[in-house]
Amino acid sequence: MEFLNTVCLVCGSREVEPIGKAVSPPMPEIIYTYFNCNTCRSRFFDPKEHCVDIYDRNEKLSMSEHYVHAEFKPNSYWIREVASITAMMEGPIKSILDCGCRTGDFLMHWPKSIKLTGVEIVPQVAEVARERGLIVINEPLEQMLHLTKYDVVTCYAILEHLSSPEKVLDALCKSVSEKGLLIVMIPSFQTWKARLLELIGQQWHQLYPPFHLCFYSNEYLSKFLSSRGFQLERRIYSSGGMFNPFAKIPFLGKVWAKIMHLLDIYSPLRFLPIFDHMYLYYRKIS
Ligand SMILES: [Zn+2]
Repeated sequence: MEFLNTVCLVCGSREVEPIGKAVSPPMPEIIYTYFNCNTCRSRFFDPKEHCVDIYDRNEKLSMSEHYVHAEFKPNSYWIREVASITAMMEGPIKSILDCGCRTGDFLMHWPKSIKLTGVEIVPQVAEVARERGLIVINEPLEQMLHLTKYDVVTCYAILEHLSSPEKVLDALCKSVSEKGLLIVMIPSFQTWKARLLELIGQQWHQLYPPFHLCFYSNEYLSKFLSSRGFQLERRIYSSGGMFNPFAKIPFLGKVWAKIMHLLDIYSPLRFLPIFDHMYLYYRKIS
């Protein structure tokens, strides 16, 4: 009865049901209800369940991260991502929009002849990206006018944080030029890892309320993106370096991390929903 007013954070449906509880890792005294939506099959937390200033906390969390103050160094992860996007794009890439660009690490891997734009809402973090010579828009994506379209729009590990995701998804779609690419990375609960943890009663690390709020079902995303003229070109999964049972054992931990890294890049297993970091590559076809 107490959840009568809860609506799906993803699609707005009232056909929702609580399916469990999750502790907020940074605030273990606070417990959130984990919901499933019977309409779009997505899962979510209701940010209104507890009174926490998410923006303020996010800002403080962002500022405390090591990368904010680190010197820029190219890394193999983004080099590979740049190569696969370039190969997928039919024709030259003239402009890129990275939503949630942080200090601009991903954009910094592209040639400077491309128009490189980022969206970053934490002002101090946006400033770091600007100092690196990038164009940075310091306002929420859904409030942008979308008069500008980009050949490639990327959104890595952002969509799960949103409290009004449809508006942002819509804005993302409108920002992509014809035949352009939209690339998103989100945590997926429709994976063996998430399901196994659920089965053994252990909290999946991506259940991180109130910072992670939305967990999109594949069905929902397919329907939403195809209604906006997008076609899925590739779906891959990665452990994101998060699966290491030997992390505390010095040598073995390093060897395991290397093996996982190679599996993430080269193994055909990356096309199976084993690990929970899901990368989706869409092309705008109409
Ligand atoms: Zn829904």
